[in-house]
Amino acid sequence: MVDAPIERGRAWVEIDLDALAHNIADIRSNMPDGCEIMAIVKANAYGHGVERVADRMVREGVNSFGVATIDEGIQLREYVPVGDILVFGRSHIDDAKLFCKHNLSQLVVDGAHAKALNEAGCILNVHVAVDTGMHRLGLEPSHFDEIESIFTQPNLRVKGIATHFASADSMEESEISFSHAQIKKFYTVVSKLKEKGYNVGKLHTQSSYAIYNYPELKCDYIRPGIMLYGVHGQHDDTNVKTDLRPVLSLKASIAQVRLIEAGEAVSYGRTYVADTERKIATVSIGYADGVPRHISGRGANAIVRGQKAPIIGRVCMDLLMLDITDIEHVEAGDVATIIGKDGDNEIRCEDIAEAADTITYEVVSRLASRLPRIYIER
Ligand SMILES: *Cc1c(COP(=O)(O)O)cnc(C)c1O
Repeated sequence: MVDAPIERGRAWVEIDLDALAHNIADIRSNMPDGCEIMAIVKANAYGHGVERVADRMVREGVNSFGVATIDEGIQLREYVPVGDILVFGRSHIDDAKLFCKHNLSQLVVDGAHAKALNEAGCILNVHVAVDTGMHRLGLEPSHFDEIESIFTQPNLRVKGIATHFASADSMEESEISFSHAQIKKFYTVVSKLKEKGYNVGKLHTQSSYAIYNYPELKCDYIRPGIMLYGVHGQHDDTNVKTDLRPVLSLKASIAQVRLIEAGEAVSYGRTYVADTERKIATVSIGYADGVPRHISGRGANAIVRGQKAPIIGRVCMDLLMLDITDIEHVEAGDVATIIGKDGDNEIRCEDIAEAADTITYEVVSRLASRLPRIYIER
């Protein structure tokens, strides 16, 4: 373990770049031959801070990236001078020239989109999105002529073909067979295109849960997002066992410590009422920082001086309160760990997500921009 730099702010995020490097190596050790990582760094690298994350990924030999928006692509290009950057979201046609200017690739979602991109006035790299059942973005396999039309646009260069699974995380029989149907549809389209002599470029279908649960798929790229950051979507089981380490910790300073008497309440709505005398710590972090308000009163903890302390009462915009009755010597300025390790205790992002009735993706991607990101690197 590397010692974290001492941070004296009100609340901050710590990013362990060595854990990120470890996760990249672990994912590679499970990757089929001939396959490469397309690292998904949309939404500011899932809240981790795209600049330093992408920089470390490049140093670890990653040279393909996926983002959601053209602005994310343009920003990422500053940190990734030579690698491939694929923009998943459908960009405004007026921005098409920017793909050429910044050497970005666009995921094409239908024939009209391809036609419009073809008119951009430059040679543009694209990947073709095939909708095999997610019904979000992409071309239906039954519209084969439309798929084919993308390959014949004179100003488009097809560099890859992709699909996305709707239920790759599920171990339910029905969802597994749905995934197999998606797989079949995708590879059928690919074979038909190849038979007609088209170069489909790089094949890619697997985001994290398909990497975990369908590791046998033929691919040129895998598209891990959440697993790079060392967290699961929820507390759940997967076919491939990995040794991933959480990259992110979330910490905040204690602003004040007080005693309250039996019968006194804490925070808005007075939903928490002490049954005996309690010692309370007020922590300088709240839902405007990305701690979900929904965890209020749902058994979530923070860690103070190596011991777990229940989060009590409602989470406020900038503050939350802990019951630290059983923890000695706590004072203002001490650190409370919301996500991460302190001593023998650990709170995982999965724990917060569960208490908030959501998934880890939402927790990390909504961590506020007002939180400084502190980077730890050996
Ligand atoms: C976000 C995204 C991914 C990464 O998903 P994870 O579950 O985080 O691995 C991969 N592919 C596409 C198309 C995505 O939108």
